[in-house]
Amino acid sequence: MINENPWLEPFWERLTAAHRQNRLPHALLLTGQPGMGKAVFAEKLARFLLCEQPTDGRSPCRQCTSCTLFEAGSNPDYIRLTPEEDSRVIKIDQVRQLSENLSLTSHGNGFKVAILIPADALNINAANSLLKTLEEPSDNTVLVLVSSHPSRLPATIRSRCQEVRIQAPDRESATRWLTARYDGPSPEVYLALANGAPLRAMQLAKEQVLEERQRRFRVLVGIHAGQESPLTVAQDWAADEDLKGLRWMREWLMDMLRIRLSGQTQGIHGVDLQEGLTVLARKLDSRVLFGQLDGINRMLKLADSTLNRQMLMEDILLAWAEQASGN
Ligand SMILES: [Zn+2]
Repeated sequence: MINENPWLEPFWERLTAAHRQNRLPHALLLTGQPGMGKAVFAEKLARFLLCEQPTDGRSPCRQCTSCTLFEAGSNPDYIRLTPEEDSRVIKIDQVRQLSENLSLTSHGNGFKVAILIPADALNINAANSLLKTLEEPSDNTVLVLVSSHPSRLPATIRSRCQEVRIQAPDRESATRWLTARYDGPSPEVYLALANGAPLRAMQLAKEQVLEERQRRFRVLVGIHAGQESPLTVAQDWAADEDLKGLRWMREWLMDMLRIRLSGQTQGIHGVDLQEGLTVLARKLDSRVLFGQLDGINRMLKLADSTLNRQMLMEDILLAWAEQASGN
């Protein structure tokens, strides 16, 4: 898996070397944006740490009892903590069970490994409970916390983990990687959309998200031109499960600000919409753009819990429509 994702290689080298030298910390915090392969990395690391005879001391052998059990999903020394079904959070009972399990003797090579994914899903009680385990780790246990949003973790947790920040490969290698696996149009656009994260770009390319996204952009331009009803669109966009229309709108506003402030299109996300974004950016006031961004960020923060998504979405799109009349 690491070989398939070459940008992970240096991080793999670093951690496996640390393990060979017996200086792997008890708790790792694996961070980096979504679509970098953090989850597969954490799983492979667990497999490696539990393997009885790693190949060249660098990779799990895939043959020993531990590797075989791992493959079958039944290695008793491996614990994977995620939110339970129908829940967004990792609960205290799950963490208690984890701590109990970690205090038992290993069945295999002496190690026990737990991964928490996403670690920012720990609710406050669960986080407090985990803190005890982090403060008094049992010997030969390794906890791997995986998070794309480490700032959402309590500082007390973060400070007790060694952070490994997985970085995106340079754009050229990422494009090479993507084009070897995807032969459709616009690989570089997908990479820009994914902020350079190769697996995320691949997923977007597979979902052929570009067409839908461009359609939404035209809708936004339509609202701005008074040809689309913000209320109808709000109803539509509020129904997106992941609020993708709103997330795209946020990206476009940031792009417009960038164009407006720097006078250039370099570094924008919407490389496929360069022309339209430039036209809009020229018409809009940066203060207004900042105001809209604020509104969207507020809504995205509330979106997890809010029941009145549609109302909030209406506010945002009405404000967007009003800008046009004001200009
Ligand atoms: Zn093995």
